[in-house]
Amino acid sequence: MKRRTFLRLMGIPMLIMVLMLGVYGSAYAQNAQKPTIAILATGGTIAGAGESEVSSAYKSGAVTVDKLLVAVPQVKDLALIKGEQVAQIGSQDMNNDIWLKVAKRLNELANDPSIDGFVITHGTDTMEETAFFLNLIAKTDKPIVMTGAMRPSTALGADGPRNLYDAVLTASSPLSKGKGVMVVMDDKIYSADDITKTMTTAVETFQCPNFGPLGYVLNGKPWFTREVKVKNTLTSEFSIDKNTVALPEVVIIYGYANENPMLVEAAVKAGVKGIVYAGMGNGNPSTAVEKALAEAVKKGVFVVRTSRVFSGPTIEYGEVDDVKNGFVASWFRNPQKSKVLLTLALMRTNDVAKIQQMFKEY
Ligand code: GLU
Repeated sequence: MKRRTFLRLMGIPMLIMVLMLGVYGSAYAQNAQKPTIAILATGGTIAGAGESEVSSAYKSGAVTVDKLLVAVPQVKDLALIKGEQVAQIGSQDMNNDIWLKVAKRLNELANDPSIDGFVITHGTDTMEETAFFLNLIAKTDKPIVMTGAMRPSTALGADGPRNLYDAVLTASSPLSKGKGVMVVMDDKIYSADDITKTMTTAVETFQCPNFGPLGYVLNGKPWFTREVKVKNTLTSEFSIDKNTVALPEVVIIYGYANENPMLVEAAVKAGVKGIVYAGMGNGNPSTAVEKALAEAVKKGVFVVRTSRVFSGPTIEYGEVDDVKNGFVASWFRNPQKSKVLLTLALMRTNDVAKIQQMFKEY
């Protein structure tokens, strides 16, 4: 074959090869620039499947993380995704065992230098407790963002795909580093310490009633408007390790007019380590329940007074003498978050004054 004909024949495949290398090369370069986000899926409505597109009846946690991601292919433009199914429950079934499993896996992956941030998908019912639990024991300043949905993935106007996209976007941003655990829902970024579910059905259910949202997701970027003031993650003294298999038993007792001290007495008899009392107003118990709670303290049970009121602190030096009774006032932690904090506090100390201080710092 003549030299010129050979070159002409070889030129075309070579050109194709060079073009392909260019395409692959630039795709590789783009991927190399993208952060890697680990998605830990636990279930919830975001993974819920319903019989119809408009009914509110559905099964929580039926859809796996891989299927969730198929519904939001755009996340691949934001990050390289590593999905893991840690649990598959409705979050009303969240318990200490699953908390420990999620926390251990999170801390394990946090040590992996190839992971830049985390998204945890979760049911909205107990999202606020899991967020606060992880906020206290995750040992990393890498972004940790929780998200969920109020409408199942099969519903018309499902909010899960957008929330998942915004969560990956927030977890991918260097601006989100060192902010503790956040929850991203409905275009807003909330801090784990104050977030609470406020409405049973609305997509805008979450609020931080005391301090407002930490920021917003705007034009494809997290936009932070306030700083987190309380200790969390790397500044938190709380921790678990692979040998932690159980947490102290703490219960919540709700206050009400004409309340009966029998619930406090039953809890003490059952051998609980702590009682969070969600009292009236500034965490006030009735005279009879105050007496029962003081008796509980004498028997070695730790009592935190908090409030059934939606917002505001429960503080010492109100109508209840906390020092005399040996109670702790919860400050800005609501009953369910007080339960989380008291549980972890009891793994570190039995000193009521120290526990009181923790409620001001976390
Ligand atoms: N029970 C469900 C859960 O928490 C419903 C709440 C939700 O995810 O919206 O998993």
